[in-house]
This record gives sequence, C-alpha cells and structure tokens, in this order.
Amino acid sequence: MPSKSHLYRDTGVVLRTYKLGEADRIVVFLTEDNGKVRAVAKGVRKTMSKFGARLEPMSHVKLLLYRGKELDIVSQAESVEALAPMLSSLDRASQGIAVLEAADQLALEREPNPQLYRMVVGVLRTIADRPAPLVVPAFYWKLLSAEGLRPELDVCVRCGESPEDGAVELVAFDLEEGGTLCRSCRSGGPISAPALDLLRMILGGRLNDALAAPDSPATHEVGVLATRALEHHIERRLKTVAMFER
Ligand SMILES: [Zn+2]
Repeated sequence: MPSKSHLYRDTGVVLRTYKLGEADRIVVFLTEDNGKVRAVAKGVRKTMSKFGARLEPMSHVKLLLYRGKELDIVSQAESVEALAPMLSSLDRASQGIAVLEAADQLALEREPNPQLYRMVVGVLRTIADRPAPLVVPAFYWKLLSAEGLRPELDVCVRCGESPEDGAVELVAFDLEEGGTLCRSCRSGGPISAPALDLLRMILGGRLNDALAAPDSPATHEVGVLATRALEHHIERRLKTVAMFER
C-alpha cells in the first residue's frame, strides 16, 4: 500500500464544486488517471485565492494533489486551456453542464477511466469551437456505446428482419429490447426515418455528418432518445450497485 498522504500529479476537468466552511470548497474532478477525485481547495473563496477562477466547473487543469484519508487536497492548479467560449452563451453553457452531469453520474471514484476523460474533454472543445444541435446527444450515445450498450439500428431486434431485404420497415425503437423494431413487432416508441439515419451516422463512424445536421424535428427526436437512453442506463446501474451494497 502506498502512503496514505502523498503528492501526485494528474490532469482533470472540474465537474462541480461545493462550499466547505467559510473559505474552502470541495472540487470534484474527472481526472485522466485517477477517475473521479474529490479534493479540498483551501481558501478558494477568498478574493486573493491562489487558484483564481481555475477551479470552476468546466475548467481543464493540471493538478498537484495531496492524497488524503477521505478527501484529497489541491496543492496546485494550472490551466490547460481556456474553455471560456463555453460561457459566452447560455446555450453552450447548458450543453457543457449536461456533459459534466453525465460524466459525474458515470465516473466512479478513483476508478481510472481515461476513455471517459478523453471523451469529455473532446466534447467540451467541440461545444466551445463549433456547437451543433447533436453534440450532446452524440456524446450520450457514444458514452452508452463505450459502456457496451450500442443499440441495434439495422434489423428488427425481435424477428431479425432487415429493411434491406425489402420485407420490413423499422418504425420503432425500444431501449429494453436494445434497438429498432419492425411494424409487426413494434414496442417502445416510434422512431422516424430521418432520426434513424442520424443515429446511424453517430454510431456508424460518420459523426461529422451528424454534427453538420441543422436543427430539425429529427435532431430533436435523437436528443430526446439519447437523454432517455442515458437515464435508463444510469437508473439500472444505480439499482445494480444498490443490490450489491445490500
Ligand atoms: Zn420484427
């Protein structure tokens, strides 16, 4: 076992912060090498804080941390890049917050998940540089895919028929069933052909085409489905964790 109180370096994105006492704040980071880390930033709420504004949600920072028994302590924080354009519009800021919330729900404390970290940094940069209606929904679908939950989009999940044979049309999408369904097997909710095309772009290696799609009923539909799929997954995972902890 390593010493319980030692220094380590990592890079992270601030997921959220909350007050601790008069002048301190607990900062929750998604780090590259240590998963989700909770650390105390001392004096961060004083006007002359050495951390300045570097420890606000969405800040991307290089860190020097002391490992503590329960909470770590932030010793140094240096900005990696300014994701400030994020906060220039309410729409971008709310997209950024949606990303942070999803990451916060999926990341586990001290459980390294460099892929999640890279995805979060990537999507925050995209929101800052070239926001698009499908940035956040695509991120959700990619997250689910990374967790092994890639929906079936090419055949009916119940009868196995494919529209390519001309036999069926895929008209429904059911999370419980794991994807698309034909008219005679349908369950879950309806899915439109344009929304299904967008989903195939996102999950089929044509993300840029999906991000070029202008706001439309189909992008909205994909967004609603993505939120529902992520919530469904998080709920199920919370139940599983609760079962194991009993
Ligand atoms: Zn079917």
